[in-house]
Amino acid sequence: MRRTRPLLITALIGSLLLAPAAADASAGPPDAVPGASGVGDPYLPLAGNGGYDVVHYDLDLDYTPATRQLKATARILAKATENLSRFNLDYQGPPITSVSVNGRRAPYVHEGGELVISPRSALRKRVPFLVEVSYAGSPQAIDDPALGVYGWVPTDDGAAVLSEPDGARSWYPVNDHPTDKASYSIRLTVPDGVTALASGEPLGRAVSRGGRTTSTWVSREPTASYLVTVAIGEFTVERSRTKSLLNITAIDPKVSATDGGLHQTTATVTDWAAGLFGRYPFSSIGGIVDKVGVGYALETQTRPIYDGRLPSTSLIVHEMAHQWYGNSVSPATWREIWLNEGFATYAEWLWSEQHGGDSAQARFDRIHARPDTDPLWRRPPGDPGRDDLFTGAVYSRGAMTLHALRQTIGDERFFTLLKRWAAEFRHRTASTADLLALAEKVSGKELDALFTAWLYTSGKPARP
Ligand SMILES: [Zn+2]
Repeated sequence: MRRTRPLLITALIGSLLLAPAAADASAGPPDAVPGASGVGDPYLPLAGNGGYDVVHYDLDLDYTPATRQLKATARILAKATENLSRFNLDYQGPPITSVSVNGRRAPYVHEGGELVISPRSALRKRVPFLVEVSYAGSPQAIDDPALGVYGWVPTDDGAAVLSEPDGARSWYPVNDHPTDKASYSIRLTVPDGVTALASGEPLGRAVSRGGRTTSTWVSREPTASYLVTVAIGEFTVERSRTKSLLNITAIDPKVSATDGGLHQTTATVTDWAAGLFGRYPFSSIGGIVDKVGVGYALETQTRPIYDGRLPSTSLIVHEMAHQWYGNSVSPATWREIWLNEGFATYAEWLWSEQHGGDSAQARFDRIHARPDTDPLWRRPPGDPGRDDLFTGAVYSRGAMTLHALRQTIGDERFFTLLKRWAAEFRHRTASTADLLALAEKVSGKELDALFTAWLYTSGKPARP
């Protein structure tokens, strides 16, 4: 489903819960098979699962910063894509207290990041089903020797979520792969006085009852699981509206006493980017500055998270460019990570070029002047390997690939390509082969030699 309406979803969830008798009457299809434990990603074979497609996640999260305790219920509305005897969710969060499918308790096994659920009666292909998982305890960040700390990260006054590539499983049961985007509603309950934000837009006002405050956030546009965020803690929040977009920024007061322009710069950068890349793909913008301690920023959807200090304009450009390239046009597999980082880095070069800084050509030349022995040339960005997902070449050689393409096809066709790439794959996933095909269509040129040299061949590529 491309675009879902949370209120309709709530009605659908209600009707599924009210009709357990119908589910009882059917023993399920006799040819049902177990769903696959992964979607076949070459870097993360257990990320995502087979046999169903999630339509909507409804997450109810109650968090107490002082004790780091989370009490949560995840309701997942999905549609079976085959007759299923059982299915998996990716999950590595606090202990599970109950699991039900279509309102009936369901047996499950939770092992090694996979939650395997066996519904009482098999699920029928093309029929929607509702999974409800309740869990409670203290969520832990994932600490990967190669990829660093990610997922649900407790902070000194709350928590922050940065889940790339597969950290969503640290805080909710999920089909954790960009190929299964869904809409979200997230209800956050925290002690009065604590601020809670998420990706997407607030629904109504926060409600305080019995010393706890609940706010609801809705993401209507398709969202990849790694881009869903929650931030809980002490924040100074600023809200305004640009022409059509709600802008919400939040800054941890411990980071800086003065706003370094995050709010206005985010709006300015988004307008500039929409001029170059086409219509902004989501319903709100913003940013969150928090003391997380992971040492990186992430382009969480509509509201990037910046760690530890106010971001530079260049970093805001990078993360907001990702809203088009990465968040709306997402990688078909994690091998395609350069499509995220090459485009976001090149957006920084374009901003600089159009705002009195270095031209993209000057940046390209400077990097290209590095000696043949520079490690940058050893690692082609088109297939960096799981442990080097965020290696420098993915960013800089990725951006150089786009500049080489621009030099080869000319400015007019290149900027047409940037817009068409965002438009034709809007809210979908795409691969390098898709980009090559579109670039050839837009330019009328054979470009596979250029792509092969820049993306898949080690050694310094010749200038185009
Ligand atoms: Zn990036």
